[in-house]
Amino acid sequence: MTSVNSPHPSVKHCADKVHARYTHGRPEHELVPSRYALRVGEIDVMVVSDGVLSLPGAMLGHNIDPAVRAAWLEEMFLPPDVLEWALNTVVVRSGGRTILIDAGIGAEFPDLPRAGQWARRLEAADIDPLSVTDVVLTHLHMDHCGGLLAGGVKERLRPDLRVHLAAAEAEFWESPDFSHVSMPPGFPDALRRTGKRFLKEYHSQLRTFENEHEVAPGVVVQRTGGHTPGHSVVRLASGGDRLTFAGDAVFQVGFEHPDWYNGFEHDPEEAARVRVRLLREVAANRESLLATHLSFPSVCHVAVDGDVFRWVPGPWEY
Ligand SMILES: [Zn+2]
Repeated sequence: MTSVNSPHPSVKHCADKVHARYTHGRPEHELVPSRYALRVGEIDVMVVSDGVLSLPGAMLGHNIDPAVRAAWLEEMFLPPDVLEWALNTVVVRSGGRTILIDAGIGAEFPDLPRAGQWARRLEAADIDPLSVTDVVLTHLHMDHCGGLLAGGVKERLRPDLRVHLAAAEAEFWESPDFSHVSMPPGFPDALRRTGKRFLKEYHSQLRTFENEHEVAPGVVVQRTGGHTPGHSVVRLASGGDRLTFAGDAVFQVGFEHPDWYNGFEHDPEEAARVRVRLLREVAANRESLLATHLSFPSVCHVAVDGDVFRWVPGPWEY
C-alpha cells in the first residue's frame, strides 16, 4: 500500500515529460495548462491546479468489495492500484474582492511530488498576493490548506486578509476523530499536524461562520459537514448563472456510486448523504459544478440517472 512516505513506484510523471526546458529546475513553459478561466454572470472564476496526488485505488470506496472496485476502475480506463487525484483550487473575483478558495498541499510533503504547485501557478496567472482580500477554506485537510503554510506565502499576503472557515471545522481540529477514515499510513498524523498548525498560524485572520456566509456579492460559503464536520461548499450566483465548488463532497466515482465511502471522509455515512443532496440540487438547478479532485479543470454538469447521477463534462472554451 502507498504511504505518505513512499509514493507508488509505478506512477508515471507524464506532465513532467512534456515540459520542454527548465530554468533553475522549473519548466519555462507548461505545455499542459494549469489554469482555466470562466465567468458566472459578473463573477470571474479561475480554476488553478495544484498538481496531482497519487493515492491507493482502495481510497475511492473502502466499504466496497475489492473486486467490484477493480471492475469499476477497469471500466473507467483507470489503473487498478493507484488513483491519480487532481487537486484543483479556485480564484474568484466579485465586487472588487479577490477570493482564493483552497490552497493546495504546500511544500511539506515531498513524497507527493506532483502536487504543491499552487503558489507558483498563482504567480504565473498574475494573481498578486497583495490583491487577495479573502481566503475561503472548504476544510482543513492538508491538500486544501497546506499551500498557505508553505515558506514565504503568509508574508506576501495582506495582514488584514480574512480567512473564512466554518466554526465547526476550527473546533474539530482541536481534537479530530479519525476512527471512521481509511487512509494510507502516515496520513492521519500529517493531517493532524497540518490542521493544528494552520489554526495556530492563521488564528488572527480567521473569520468563522456557523452555516453560511456571503463573502462577496454572489459568493456564498455553505457548511455541508460529512467529509469533515465543518466541510463547506461555495455557491456562486450572478445574472441568472450559477456554479458550485463542491470541495471534497463529490469525487469522480460519486456520480455513479454516491454511496461508496472515500477513505478521507471522517463521517462517511453523512458524507454520502451530503453528496446525494448536493448532486440532486446541482442537477435540478442545471448549474455548473467544480470540485477539488475531479480531473482539471473539473467544469461539468450533473444529470440524474435513475437513483444515481451522470457526470456531463463542460465544454473547453478557448
Ligand atoms: Zn481533498
